[in-house]
Amino acid sequence: MNFNEYPIESLMYITNRPEIVFTHGKGSWIYDNNGKRYLDFIQGWAVNSLGHCNEGMLDALNQQAKLLLNPSPAFYNEPMAKLANLLTQHSCFDKVFFANSGAEANEGAIKLARKWGRKFKDGAFEIITFDHSFHGRTLATMSASGKPGWDTIYAPQVPGFPKADLNDIASVEKLINAKTVAVMLEPIQGEGGVIPATREFMQQLRELTRKHNVLLIVDEVQSGCGRAGTLFAYELSGIEPDIMTLGKGIGGGVPLAALLSKAEIAVFEAGDQGGTYNGNPLMTAVGYSVISQLTAPGFLEGVRSRGEYLRAKLLELSEERGFNGERGEGLLRALLLGKDIGNEIVEKARDMQPDGLLLNAARPNLLRFMPALNVTTAEIDQMMAMLRSILDTL
Ligand SMILES: *Cc1c(COP(=O)(O)O)cnc(C)c1O
Repeated sequence: MNFNEYPIESLMYITNRPEIVFTHGKGSWIYDNNGKRYLDFIQGWAVNSLGHCNEGMLDALNQQAKLLLNPSPAFYNEPMAKLANLLTQHSCFDKVFFANSGAEANEGAIKLARKWGRKFKDGAFEIITFDHSFHGRTLATMSASGKPGWDTIYAPQVPGFPKADLNDIASVEKLINAKTVAVMLEPIQGEGGVIPATREFMQQLRELTRKHNVLLIVDEVQSGCGRAGTLFAYELSGIEPDIMTLGKGIGGGVPLAALLSKAEIAVFEAGDQGGTYNGNPLMTAVGYSVISQLTAPGFLEGVRSRGEYLRAKLLELSEERGFNGERGEGLLRALLLGKDIGNEIVEKARDMQPDGLLLNAARPNLLRFMPALNVTTAEIDQMMAMLRSILDTL
């Protein structure tokens, strides 16, 4: 169908979108209404952990769709229990609450920490978060985020989120007082430009939060579920947080998120937390397929080796073109361009012929790479060749 034949005028404007309509995808490739294909290194925004239309996920979705869609969140269902159990088996956490989006999981984490503060810490409610962090688009998670400008768009903000600087333990310590209940961070800031918290900083944070009886919350909506080369990014620093949130990759493309905590932190009482679709069997059955595939023998080793491969290729390109190197973990990486040419590259890559390339510039001076975790080295090579040909035209 021609672009003009789609009734797009009924959609509320929220951002500038290119004049193409995506119709289908398979693995690392996505196709538009003109039949043009694109090598996809965005993958739904680090969401399609197993690429487009993964067979195992489709089987789980189809089988569950015939059995039961939603018995109501007030009843148990089998996929919700199985996925929760799989997550606790493969993490340091004991309890799981399912949500529909990363922002909602983070709202849950904020509520859980505040509830814990009310119960055990004399009503402490402040959660220290970080400059340039991203935690979602609800009012509370926007207030928790350190994205420039977000303090004023929908003012007034939800109070109680003082901001510290990532990888600067003194900036955190300075903010701790009797009202502090938690510190919340992304182990790798994703939207902020793929900035990893150092192993040393994570360990200092764990020590500091223990010393002050303050909870440590990791937002692994982007860094979790294999993206960083380990099942969860907190594993990279050898610490155990008190609370973790997951989103994006856990559903492999379907709306699913989760809030996990240690048993002693799980203090919700009847009626404190819920949601109509939370833990519905259709989405949790898909999540079970995703996490089963990620934890299958050899899968995460493969993510790490392809992450190293991408890293080496990006460094090679950086040296060749005089860029500022690269950073990241596993298959969440950024190429530091040193100048604000990111958006131009993104547009040219998308519009390239005959095949396009989908990339993201999380900031104007860098490119972010978030391919499917099962991307092949041949596809990485193909992406690098396409990127080189675009750079040649600048
Ligand atoms: C994307 C993201 C969120 C928000 O997730 P949604 O599903 O869009 O609500 C929260 N935290 C981090 C780190 C993210 O990358």
